[in-house]
Amino acid sequence: MANASAAQPPRGRFAPSPTGRLHAGNIFSYLVAYIVAHRAGGTIALRIEDLDPQRSKSVFAQACLRDLDYLGLGWDVGPLYQSERTEIYREAFHELESKGLVYPCFCTRADVHAASAPHRGEKFVYAGTCRNLTAEQREERARDIAAEGRAPSMRLIVPDRTYAINDLFQGRYEQNLACDCGDFLIRRSDGAFAYQLAVVVDDAAQQVTQVVRGVDLLSSSPQQAYVQDLLGFGRVSYGHVPLLVSRTDRRLSKRDHDASIDQMRVSYGSAAGILGHIAYVVGMVPDDAPATVDELVVGADLAPLAGCIQKVWKA
Ligand code: GLU
Repeated sequence: MANASAAQPPRGRFAPSPTGRLHAGNIFSYLVAYIVAHRAGGTIALRIEDLDPQRSKSVFAQACLRDLDYLGLGWDVGPLYQSERTEIYREAFHELESKGLVYPCFCTRADVHAASAPHRGEKFVYAGTCRNLTAEQREERARDIAAEGRAPSMRLIVPDRTYAINDLFQGRYEQNLACDCGDFLIRRSDGAFAYQLAVVVDDAAQQVTQVVRGVDLLSSSPQQAYVQDLLGFGRVSYGHVPLLVSRTDRRLSKRDHDASIDQMRVSYGSAAGILGHIAYVVGMVPDDAPATVDELVVGADLAPLAGCIQKVWKA
């Protein structure tokens, strides 16, 4: 069971979704996860987040392992494949259900957006439309949507309570789950268990104590802290690193060929060339020169990441 005890060396993690090849953005966040864990004498777990069968491809998972290996971003535990863990997620789901905290939601995506208010530009707050339906209403709604060929999703009831994290890079971040988030999905209508459930179960299974990842997931951390508490796991520490954006102020994507691992191998000639360039672009080293993972563990300056949510990528 995970426990963020100060006496233990931390266990960090890489958790790639195999929906494409690695690029400068995810390499940057794995590099920082690696540096933070190794500086404290810790270890790294690897998890392939292939929860979504439509979007995940095993060729990308295989390529990811090879690319991490090429880059020298090694791991100590795993890989764990989420696609093989459905029964484990089901157990956790039943545990939450047995606490009376789970209910079926019959809303379509359009219903959810129509009934909810965007909050701080981060995410939609679910209005609780299906929370208080009676047993008869649930049966009726279930029949209606079955006739449309749909099944309900399942939501977790959240308390009117603030969950806060002390983020290594972003400082204190908090949400009142009732006001800022609303009851959230833990099983999708296609039957797949949701990211927010799987990620907490798997971090605990891999004894992860330190989650370093992109700042786009900062707003998920209070939800994950809540699920950790409900399932009796220790809290983990968090560090959310800036997103790499292209010059047009959008996230790096497949369109940014100069940030793809294959193109970077050509442009910078070696793993150290790629890592040194990424570290330079985000301001962690003063010169655009090759640097190995071990050199960056010793020498990279993480201070430029503090309080920062975006860094502009330059090839
Ligand atoms: N699998 C997610 C991604 O590749 C990361 C999830 C996490 O770090 O919690 O974006």
